[in-house]
Amino acid sequence: MDSYDYDLFVIGAGSGGVRASRIAANLGARVAVAEERYFGGTCVNVGCVPKKLYSYAAHYKDDFEDSKGFGWEYSDARFNWAVLKKNKDKEINRLKSIYESLLQKSGVSVFEGRARLVGPNEIQVGNKTCSARHILLAVGGWPHVPDFEGSEYAITSNEVFGMSSAPKSIAVLGGGYIAVEFASFFARLGVETTLVYRGNKLLRGFDEDVRDIITGELARSTNMVLEDDISKIIKQSNCLKLVLKTGVMLEAEQVVAATGRKPLTQDLGLETTAVELDDDGAIKVDSSFCTAEPSIYAVGDAINRVALTPVALMEGQWLAQRLFGETTDPVRYENIPTAVFCHPNVATCGYSEPQARALGLAFDVYESRFRQLRHTLSGRQELSYIKLLVNQADDRVIGAHFVAPDAGELMQGVAVAMNAGATKRAFDATLGIHPTLAEEFVTLREKRVA
Ligand code: NDP
Repeated sequence: MDSYDYDLFVIGAGSGGVRASRIAANLGARVAVAEERYFGGTCVNVGCVPKKLYSYAAHYKDDFEDSKGFGWEYSDARFNWAVLKKNKDKEINRLKSIYESLLQKSGVSVFEGRARLVGPNEIQVGNKTCSARHILLAVGGWPHVPDFEGSEYAITSNEVFGMSSAPKSIAVLGGGYIAVEFASFFARLGVETTLVYRGNKLLRGFDEDVRDIITGELARSTNMVLEDDISKIIKQSNCLKLVLKTGVMLEAEQVVAATGRKPLTQDLGLETTAVELDDDGAIKVDSSFCTAEPSIYAVGDAINRVALTPVALMEGQWLAQRLFGETTDPVRYENIPTAVFCHPNVATCGYSEPQARALGLAFDVYESRFRQLRHTLSGRQELSYIKLLVNQADDRVIGAHFVAPDAGELMQGVAVAMNAGATKRAFDATLGIHPTLAEEFVTLREKRVA
């Protein structure tokens, strides 16, 4: 026991901060956490959870349409945005209070307010100053809107979930996770949706074939403007006018900038410590999440390595165990499965073809484009796609990519197999579950050399 008030003071009660606090407290540390905005952070309040609820709502539109080919008859299916918003708010409030009470039940002291560093071991929250042996910065990120004329008229993902009614039309700027997910649900919830992206296909960083397919799929439900970018937004009496860089003009009631997120690291009192930021404002840490100040650590979106909730959870947990429990293996960033909850879903684990090639790996590609059984009767033209990359040296599956309904659900099991080092031979020796979409993973036989 030393003279500090706490063994660990965590700034930010989002995914990484809450996980680190609870694990540390369970390991016997005296822990405090400060949160200025909302318990659960981005994921619970304005990210993964509300987005998934809106995506579920959007799926009903497709289901109603598809049901007709299966004999269902109805004349009046209408969507009420206000009901979805009200029910979503109720659920988010329930989750927030669960997060707060989990902290309290673990014996963590909770401060509601903005915390700032006032030295390597001191934190100020309101007019109270505390000391801590270790400090963890788990302050998360915030939507970034590029600088252009009229950018103040654009809202971000944060504001979308506060909208009490749906706009008649919306323009979504960007081509990453948030842009494709939000455009997918807006388009199905009765909003005329335009997607403006500066690249020639969506989801940069994903496998190229996946990008081709999903760009084609989103073009079915949205007005897609590629290879162009916003130049200015002019407010008109009843709408916003968008002027694009090529001179194209568009109109929309709302504009959502889904143009990336940045670490929320301003005004934290870092100047009173040796903590350093990179050019994007991310906190620089070593492989143990330690900053240039030996008593201060950082995890999650604030360090901008992989901005995903499960990664922040893993980092927070690893750090708490490292500080107060047994030393664990280094954090592994390989084979992180991820899904984009657009319609259809994109899910991926391991390398894309360009990544595998850049690493100098020799690999084979197994792939299939198909229309799922359900759509033989629904009449929907939606395509599904699957691809496995197999390392020639040891037959291990080093990349899996799936575009399909519920691909996010299906990729989780594949990720377990990949983390266990599964070979293509093991995939082939596994019997399919027939008839399912997932059986495609074990029935790919035709290979092409990449
Ligand atoms: P992304 O980085 O995924 O995408 C940002 C998009 O904005 C890109 O298409 C990018 O274009 C474009 N862009 C960036 N700057 C500009 C600019 N100045 N002018 C025009 N376009 C620009 O960020 P998101 O905001 O979509 O999401 C942030 C992060 O949150 C994701 O990367 C992901 O880590 C996480 N997330 C995860 C989700 C999930 O797990 N399902 C869901 C939502 C978010 P370009 O490609 O050309 O750079």
